[in-house]
Amino acid sequence: VVELSSVSKRFKLGTTEVDALKEISLGIRKNDFAAITGPSGSGKSTLLNLIGCLDVPTSGEVKISGTRTSDLDEKALDKLRSRAIGFIFQSFNLIPVLKAVENVMLPLQLHGLKAQQMREQAEHALRQVGLEHYIDHLPDQLSGGQRQRVSIARALVTKPNLVLADEPTANLDSSNSEAIIELMRKLNKESGVTFVFSTHDASLLGKVDRIIRIRDGKLQEDTAAAPLKKALG
Ligand code: ATP
Ligand code: MG
Repeated sequence: VVELSSVSKRFKLGTTEVDALKEISLGIRKNDFAAITGPSGSGKSTLLNLIGCLDVPTSGEVKISGTRTSDLDEKALDKLRSRAIGFIFQSFNLIPVLKAVENVMLPLQLHGLKAQQMREQAEHALRQVGLEHYIDHLPDQLSGGQRQRVSIARALVTKPNLVLADEPTANLDSSNSEAIIELMRKLNKESGVTFVFSTHDASLLGKVDRIIRIRDGKLQEDTAAAPLKKALG
């Protein structure tokens, strides 16, 4: 789905430079259920932003479905991104004055659908995350776990192939964190959505198929790279 080849990212702040990512190569494949983990500042968010084409690498190449993103103009990239990729954020990013269903409808605004169609798709996405009884609730009438479910519904509403989540459980207690990961897992199994999320929480790593570990901007471990070794014991 997404292929990173020798990707590096350098940030410049005045006279100081930070190499946030160093020569990372990895492919996200269809149906992956993967976690990016590593210490604070290791480059997890930067890596997710590059995978999701929210940011561009300083060097190296990012391909989405075989297309080099550097060959696309801003508009084409926006279109590709809004159709193919859903995003979930740590802080939910819901609009407080909009009901759950209206928040979920937001990404559909660009897709030229009728209001009724948008509403039906948003309600379907809310059913997928088990919130069919909370359609008209405002964000502050929902618990943290329910808010994160709304943001998952919002990420799913455009039927993306790939959903990226940056620390989706960081603001949740451990039972809600597990529930959110299990929900993503269920959507991965049942609807074939590819999920990649970042987490600090080692207890969630047992629930994924693939662990991508980074440290100081370098790829330290990618469990998908060694399936043969595992099979041979
Ligand atoms: P955390 O676990 O705390 O969220 P992280 O692994 O997500 O950390 P990143 O946010 O990717 O880490 O940051 C990696 C490095 O890049 C850090 O040194 C950070 O200070 C730097 N960095 C990230 N974004 C920017 C930016 N926009 N401008 C300058 N430096 C940045
Ligand atoms: Mg981060």
